Amino acid sequence: MSGLGVSAPRLLLRKLHQVMAGHGDAEQRLNEIVRLIAGNMIAEVCSCYLMRAGDVLELFATHGLKKDAVHQTRLRLGEGLVGDIAAQARPLNLSDAQSHPQFAYRPETGEEEYHSLLGTPVLRGGRVIGVLVVQNRTQRSYTEEEVEALQTVAMVVAELVSSEQMVASTEFSDTAGNATLPHRIAGSVLAEGLATGYALLHEPRIEVIRALAEDRALELQRLSKAVEALQSSVDALLTATNTMFQDESREIFEAYKMFAHDKGWLKKLEDAVKTGLTAEAAIKRVQDDTRARMKEITDPYLRERLSELDDLANRLYLHLDGHEMIDRRNLDEDTIVVAHAMGAAELLDYDRRHLKAVILAEGTRSSHVAIVARALGVPVVGQCEEIVEAVEQGDFILVDGEHGQVFLRPGEDVQEAFFQNVGQRAKRQAKFAALRDIPNVSKDGVKLSLNVNAGLLIDVDHFHTTGADGIGLFRTELQFMVRSQMPKVDEQTALYSKVLDSLDGAPVIFRTLDVGGDKVLPYLKTRAEENPALGWRAIRIGLDRPALLRSQLRALVQAAAGRQLSLMFPMVAEVSEFIEAKAILNKEIERASQRKGGAPSKVNVGTMIEVPSIVWQLEHLLKEVDFVSVGSNDLMQFFFAVDRGNPKISDRYDSLSPSLLKLLRKIADDCNANGIPLSICGDIAGRPLEALALLGLGYRNFSMSAASLGPVKEMVLSAEIAKLQKFVQGLCDVRDHSVRDQLRAFARDHSIVV
Ligand code: PEP
Ligand code: MG
Repeated sequence: MSGLGVSAPRLLLRKLHQVMAGHGDAEQRLNEIVRLIAGNMIAEVCSCYLMRAGDVLELFATHGLKKDAVHQTRLRLGEGLVGDIAAQARPLNLSDAQSHPQFAYRPETGEEEYHSLLGTPVLRGGRVIGVLVVQNRTQRSYTEEEVEALQTVAMVVAELVSSEQMVASTEFSDTAGNATLPHRIAGSVLAEGLATGYALLHEPRIEVIRALAEDRALELQRLSKAVEALQSSVDALLTATNTMFQDESREIFEAYKMFAHDKGWLKKLEDAVKTGLTAEAAIKRVQDDTRARMKEITDPYLRERLSELDDLANRLYLHLDGHEMIDRRNLDEDTIVVAHAMGAAELLDYDRRHLKAVILAEGTRSSHVAIVARALGVPVVGQCEEIVEAVEQGDFILVDGEHGQVFLRPGEDVQEAFFQNVGQRAKRQAKFAALRDIPNVSKDGVKLSLNVNAGLLIDVDHFHTTGADGIGLFRTELQFMVRSQMPKVDEQTALYSKVLDSLDGAPVIFRTLDVGGDKVLPYLKTRAEENPALGWRAIRIGLDRPALLRSQLRALVQAAAGRQLSLMFPMVAEVSEFIEAKAILNKEIERASQRKGGAPSKVNVGTMIEVPSIVWQLEHLLKEVDFVSVGSNDLMQFFFAVDRGNPKISDRYDSLSPSLLKLLRKIADDCNANGIPLSICGDIAGRPLEALALLGLGYRNFSMSAASLGPVKEMVLSAEIAKLQKFVQGLCDVRDHSVRDQLRAFARDHSIVV
């Protein structure tokens, strides 16, 4: 059997064009389309199934199967080969369909005569809205061109099904209506808060509204203009790359440049337009092809290159005229950004005035995007797996960052309940605000220090509004992440001065640059690492590239001239690293003391405790440092060998596990015995129940996100520490997975608010 010739797509598309422009209702046109496809592909059967409400695929049109089966044959998503194509959202090419384990025989169709089958999903906005199938009597394998041709036709079918005129037709209404149904998606809270707004997709999605071109020459022109714009934007990216770490960053941009100018890729796009597709449909066509190739390649390097090509197709689409480029710095009011995953730097890119919330398909509470979101006060619900597929650009959404759920296109009753929640939350916030000026003293008179974590200037305001004792962790890298170039020493000095000025003598601990891992600087493109969390990051970069660390220390020392400076180093794994870093600092202090501004009046140098190995060198470390601060996010990550950014394992180990409590107890005991001030600034410091356990272990200084301060303070004011200490000591030695229940029961019995 010869199948589809090379010139056939053009012919087929021209005929489809006539059908689309012609008369007849939706069903008649669909019948005509399946007849044309069967004829062109020399197939005995061509059928079109469409998705109805409730994830049921219904046979809507067929050429070749028994006509009685139309509107009778229905398959659930995942059922039979058609259901499988829809569930997997990918084509299936089988020479003997009936021997496939998924084959579901439907006698009313009379399909037992047909052996080979080629099916492809009909996609709209990334969502499967139907399946298109051709079948032949003989056992044959369809060629790559035929698969591509059917996918192209599927685009036209998608257009027909979704066009407004069709949606109005009764037959298709509930199919297309799926996209507008209300939908609740459960996830988990990454940053607290409630918000309402309109969806904006973070990753551009190629939407083919019109697949068939009206005017081929015009489409070619649109494509070539977009290609030119893409090429110059990629060239600009390349020249804008900072000279520092040039090798690493250039590599990625060079690859983009190479592809953007690649003749093969450009020709494929042009050819697709020449067959009669719009520029959008052509880009989608070529992208689908890249994706199909990607699935077959196992070599990680080649896969990476292909994924760059995939991204480039998205960018090209955005350059087509008629598409508005999303200007992240100028959002529409009440924007809710929806993404698969997002880095902290990308979040910082968005216009904060109008960004109301973020919804992620992935993400964990201790990932940096969540930390930055909490700093900004932007609610985030993560691990909403289906969100990207379910949402449409501009959908109205309610984000419930208290219970970890989002409501897409909510009905009135849901909206009403949600707004009641908003009111209750405001009341709670008012209650916390009323605690602001009450001293941080436990019920039995123990004085505690409650601080906020910061990194952006907005956090400095939080320090004032919450009434915190100080800033226990200033993540300096956030300032580096919001810029497109490495800030110069003077710029850094000005910023640190501003922080010190506005704190007016209250304590602030600056942490030196903690980049690498998932904290990416746009101008510091490091080579991809297999295990970035265990890789070249934080103090390791600082010691390997002392110029970078030195310039930051110089800025900090200059900013604190004549006043007190407290700073600490991140990710210290052994004492020698601390000593080496401190030596660089001492040189800077010495240098400043000989210059006009002078040195700080006092410098306190400490380290984060984030890598378990340093806990076994505490006896040496505590002789060198002025203070230490536990970074429990990373400490837990390395202690349990559990990637802090991986939602699959984020609940596997509990932060109230006896083994972790024992580790935290050792740190507290050693520091208290040596008279070295100790604080804790990881996420657990901001959770009332965890903070209660920490109080029992001897921690007295906590630093947390601004939103956590009220709830933790409420707990502290209601706790009696003397009784608690004995109880928590006992919990360290049990063999349970977690002591959460025991601790909660203790809190309840002792009227501690957690
Ligand atoms: C930590 O690891 O607990 C910490 C406070 O640092 P970061 O979250 O910035 O890695
Ligand atoms: Mg850390």
